Amino acid sequence: LLSKLPHIGTTIFTVMSKLATDHHAINLSQGFPGFDCYPYLQDLVSEYMRKGYNQYAPMSGVPILKNRLAEKTENLYDVSFDPETEITIVSGATEAIFAAVTAVVRRGDEVILLEPAYDSYAPAIELNGGVPVYVSLNLPDFSVDWQKVKDAITDKTRLIMINTPHNPCGYVWTQNDLDILAELIEDEDIYLISDEVYEHITFDNRNHLPLFTHPVLKEKTFTCGSFGKTFHITGWKIGYCLAPKKLSTEFRKIHQFLTFSTSTPMQYALADFMKEPSRYLFLNEFYQKKRDLFCEGLKQTPFRFSPTQGSFFQVVEYGHLSSEKDFDLAVRLTKEIGVASIPISAFYHDQKDHKLLRFCFAKDDEVLEEALGQLSKAT
Ligand code: PMP
Ligand code: GLN
Repeated sequence: LLSKLPHIGTTIFTVMSKLATDHHAINLSQGFPGFDCYPYLQDLVSEYMRKGYNQYAPMSGVPILKNRLAEKTENLYDVSFDPETEITIVSGATEAIFAAVTAVVRRGDEVILLEPAYDSYAPAIELNGGVPVYVSLNLPDFSVDWQKVKDAITDKTRLIMINTPHNPCGYVWTQNDLDILAELIEDEDIYLISDEVYEHITFDNRNHLPLFTHPVLKEKTFTCGSFGKTFHITGWKIGYCLAPKKLSTEFRKIHQFLTFSTSTPMQYALADFMKEPSRYLFLNEFYQKKRDLFCEGLKQTPFRFSPTQGSFFQVVEYGHLSSEKDFDLAVRLTKEIGVASIPISAFYHDQKDHKLLRFCFAKDDEVLEEALGQLSKAT
């Protein structure tokens, strides 16, 4: 079979998680909570299963869950989305991203990716015949170099992929970023996919600013979210896409043939669970403690870092310690000191190696402390 993705192997998350398991290492590589979700949420799923909510959900999602998302967006950001026509429940943000890319990108269209970029973006573009155009984020803070973005725009540019808070680097977009982007694309036939799965994980009193809070951007944006990050249920694979009616109509045409619909009892359970906003609003504080604990401990290790602004990832730099490739170091640390991480070169199309590793701190405090103890021995 002639490969459609000849340059792509198994994702780094799968590779490093397997290595962690094989070597009984603490797995701070793939991003998922090391603690369980809320028992009440589990009870709700069982309850809906027992009540017989076990057949196909409506294609665009269960109305009560879409209503809940509309209420949340209205209450938190003062922005309206019509649950009937502008909100779609999907099987994880990965599906939302793939469906949105497929809805927009035609053969030969250029798509701007800000690197380091989450690993599912480029393959989704390529499978749709699009051409990724790579723009590097500024080091060391991973802010956006707007001149470079401007220079990358051509008459073939159809889409720009945005991710805030950013995985792997944690950068959180500012109002200034939104304003500049709006100015750049206002009169262009360019759409946006905004991956906001870490919406509720920002630090030091920073607020997440969804792109849709800017009226110009709202009209052009597919916002992709995931319940996985917010409710510690990455294994449930449930997410959503918010987009204006015209965009959502095209999005749904793709979604209906990718998966058609998403797990019914889980949608009902999440709708009930989300009635209480504190169940997602407490996340910033919850993860702030973990980020602070992790960063305090990192000071006792040889790594250099700036505390992450958002997401549950912390990037560290080791260039002053060794010239080893980041992938090699990630493997060696897994084997020698029993802590697995993700090499940041995996998020660059050309495996650019800035001597950076990513650690996931969505783990129990004792696990983080044990990992930090081990990391202090890193050489
Ligand atoms: N985008 C980013 C930036 C992510 O980190 C992840 C997964 N952690 C996803 C998308 C995929 O989300 P889901 O598991 O809901 O498909
Ligand atoms: N998004 C998670 C991460 O960045 C991994 C999800 C996956 O393994 N596909 O680690």
